[in-house]
Amino acid sequence: MKGRLLDAIPLTTLTGVGASQSAKLAKIGLHTLQDLLLHLPLRYEDRTHLTAINDLQAGSHTTVWGEVLHSEITFGRRRMLVCQISDGTGTLTLRFFNFNAGMKNGLATGKKIIAWGEIRRGQRGPEIIHPEYRQQDEQQSIALQDTLTPVYPATEGIRQATLRNLTDQALVLLQHNPIQELLPSQLCSGLLSLTDALQLLHRPPPEMQLADIELGRHPAQLRLITEELLAHQLSMLQARAGAQQYRALSFKPDYHLSEQLLSRLPFTPTAAQRRVVKEIEQDLAHSYPMLRLVQGDVGSGKTLVAALAALQVIAADQQVVMMAPTELLAEQHAHNFRTWFEPLGIQVGWLAGKQKGKARASEQERIARGEVQMVVGTHALFQEHIQFQHLALVIIDEQHRFGVHQRLALWEKGQQQGFHPHQLIMTATPIPRTLAMTAYADLETSTIDELPPGRTPVTTVAIPDSRRSEIILRVEKACAEGRQAYWVCTLIEKSEQLDAQAAENTLVELQAALPSMRIGLVHGRMKPAEKQQIMQQFKGHELDLLIATTVIEVGVDVPNSSLMIIDNAERLGLAQLHQLRGRVGRGAIASHCVLLYNPPLSKTAQKRLQVLRDTNDGFIIAQHDLEIRGPGELLGTKQTGNAEFKVVDLVRDQRLIPEIQRIAKHLHQNYPEQSKALIERWLPAKTLFSNV
Ligand code: ADP
Ligand code: MG
Repeated sequence: MKGRLLDAIPLTTLTGVGASQSAKLAKIGLHTLQDLLLHLPLRYEDRTHLTAINDLQAGSHTTVWGEVLHSEITFGRRRMLVCQISDGTGTLTLRFFNFNAGMKNGLATGKKIIAWGEIRRGQRGPEIIHPEYRQQDEQQSIALQDTLTPVYPATEGIRQATLRNLTDQALVLLQHNPIQELLPSQLCSGLLSLTDALQLLHRPPPEMQLADIELGRHPAQLRLITEELLAHQLSMLQARAGAQQYRALSFKPDYHLSEQLLSRLPFTPTAAQRRVVKEIEQDLAHSYPMLRLVQGDVGSGKTLVAALAALQVIAADQQVVMMAPTELLAEQHAHNFRTWFEPLGIQVGWLAGKQKGKARASEQERIARGEVQMVVGTHALFQEHIQFQHLALVIIDEQHRFGVHQRLALWEKGQQQGFHPHQLIMTATPIPRTLAMTAYADLETSTIDELPPGRTPVTTVAIPDSRRSEIILRVEKACAEGRQAYWVCTLIEKSEQLDAQAAENTLVELQAALPSMRIGLVHGRMKPAEKQQIMQQFKGHELDLLIATTVIEVGVDVPNSSLMIIDNAERLGLAQLHQLRGRVGRGAIASHCVLLYNPPLSKTAQKRLQVLRDTNDGFIIAQHDLEIRGPGELLGTKQTGNAEFKVVDLVRDQRLIPEIQRIAKHLHQNYPEQSKALIERWLPAKTLFSNV
């Protein structure tokens, strides 16, 4: 076996790995020795020396020896085995919530044990909750570890001891079987070798600075972080390169339609809108499909950008589809596009999820025959097979939570006669630049970094629910002055029914408090036509106040509304609150957002509401969101199966990303073999386009 590369050695070569064990390991993605060695400890415990009870520090993971002085079962809020031990310098309390008779006997008065765990400050001195322990009669003869003890990510059915034993064996083999160095030598010259880095991280010497590890700054970690980030960037570059091998129709700039549209608009595009449209135009001129993300804060005017892009394609007699995440938004887009496009002689089609048989069939036929040039519908639409005459551009609104795979799937669906449609993704949920560089490395990105002129920033206040009646008066005043307001009802349960119920209760409450006011209600349980009718009434100012659930979160555009009340604001995340707030501040009138909350606020809720009061800037909010919630939540990777890292922590390691991206481009161009091997090492399941 000597001399074989570690990624070629299956785990079954290790002692103790039979069929059942190897199946369990495979479940967590561990197949080869290389996989096992890249499965790194979460943290470490110091079992290299004993600490006298007298010297224990709260928060440290420590090894202690002592004799049981007293042991009893207590019945407080929970049944618990409580046990005091002493080593002559002081007393330490051990607490066990789960215990059996054997444990109780093993911990009886007079027994001597060695215990490991995290020290906490208890009411009567130091304590450990659920320590690991074993019988140890002689303090002198304790066999202590000579390295820090690794604690691996917990895995069902695999014990820590097993993982320690297997990595012990793997580390011995590592001495004779190289793990291939994939970074070009000039790149890794300053870095620790991979072998040393792995040895160090699996079995750190007692003097290793754990604080460095927590900050992700230990050289051994940096070595691995660099590789993993590189591998990730490379896989995105590979995906992008693969995509560029597809064919798409290329479009020469043709402004005859867009000039007509612009001449009819009551405003002119902002410089940012014009710049982004130019960037899209350049993509559309390529003979491979565009894959571009447009980020623009709420209200920055993404719809117009989409319309101008669509007109480039429609001018060449090709079809465009635009998808929105909700029916409400899709219907609003359909309405908008009809107003803008029909005077130009362009037919706008509409496909709703709940459309009935006949209407739907006839709409589909018109699309298939090419009588409709612009099709608007919901995202769900694309689950089905819609036949187009010649689809050349897919626009996806308010959806950044698409992983690479979903973006590819969309392409495949739209493919016709060997041509793939261009793809434009629009999102109002800006994500921090470094994160975007990681998650969207396969996309080109454009940013609309300017709001149309004349907008006044929304003033935001947080007010406890005890002052609700004051707020109701404020709504009355705003509406009496000819403006409109939203009242958003939220519930913590993800239940449309309960949400709808809350909204209905609020309707009753506000109708009673404001009898002269015209109040409407929309929620997710209403029929699309009903929702639409209410929205139209609100838009036409036949209603003063709209009570809504978070269905109005994205896209709804009624510039005359200048006041938004969000009930139970403490229950929503930053991004969602920012989105909701984006429904006001769309006209020239000064707008206000009231975050009604129920005290007491948790620390993070306090922080969220504070961030919203402090800024209207979506990018700053996104950066805070990243810090509060972490990248997985932000990118929705739970749904998309996007990047999940082994050693990288995107928040902690953000600072490395720009440099890594630069290196990745260099590797991608000059070292294709190594690039491929790096991707396979770190993301074996995500090798995209392996066959192009
Ligand atoms: P979002 O980026 O949130 O999708 P919209 O496209 O809905 O924003 O635009 C918000 C509002 O701003 C709409 O009423 C739209 O007509 C208007 N708008 C868009 N571009 C401009 C502009 N250049 N000048 C003035 N108003 C604009
Ligand atoms: Mg929009």
